[in-house]
Amino acid sequence: MEPHVEFLFAQLPLADFVRDYRDLPRFRTLCQACDNYGQCWSCPPYDFDETVFLSPYVEANLIGARVDVPQEARFCGDGEACRRKGDALLRPLRALLDDALLRLEQELPGGRAFYAGSCMRCPKGACRRRSGEPCVAPEKLRPSIEALGFDVERTASELLATELRWGEPGRLPDYFVLVSGFFSAEPLGNLSERWNRVFVR
Ligand code: SF4
Repeated sequence: MEPHVEFLFAQLPLADFVRDYRDLPRFRTLCQACDNYGQCWSCPPYDFDETVFLSPYVEANLIGARVDVPQEARFCGDGEACRRKGDALLRPLRALLDDALLRLEQELPGGRAFYAGSCMRCPKGACRRRSGEPCVAPEKLRPSIEALGFDVERTASELLATELRWGEPGRLPDYFVLVSGFFSAEPLGNLSERWNRVFVR
């Protein structure tokens, strides 16, 4: 059965989002402690300047996907089993979210999608960067907002009105929140209406 997903939206000038929610040194340090650092093409370190990368955009459009984890699906065994179970739950949704974000880019030239985390197009742990090879789908490669230095936890709680949740030993949380972004080159208008047109399940 597909998990229930509720979408949450926020829009604000990108300059405000940068001023109030971005701290690149702090979040880059957290990235460096992650297994994906330097091992996935969507993750840092990058061959571009992250601040210059943000300069063409004027509006931050933020999309939270709150995914319920049914009570009976929360028990997950040891840490690795929990990671596998969470991955199995979220990976199909990430594919739908990422495709919807790319559709937004097609509809709104000049904008840029930001995925809700590291790229998940290849199987877990199989990004070609690990073997020094190029990305298999560079036209679909996008960073996440956290990789560019934004505070996803505060973004969720203060802008999307939901708290991030983590599991505990042997149990998945009651819900996950995936935070995606679309930074537009001009104000986008009604985000939820646009999202409902591009998100196809
Ligand atoms: S598509 Fe594959 S190779 Fe490219 S960034 Fe994603 S996981 Fe890595």
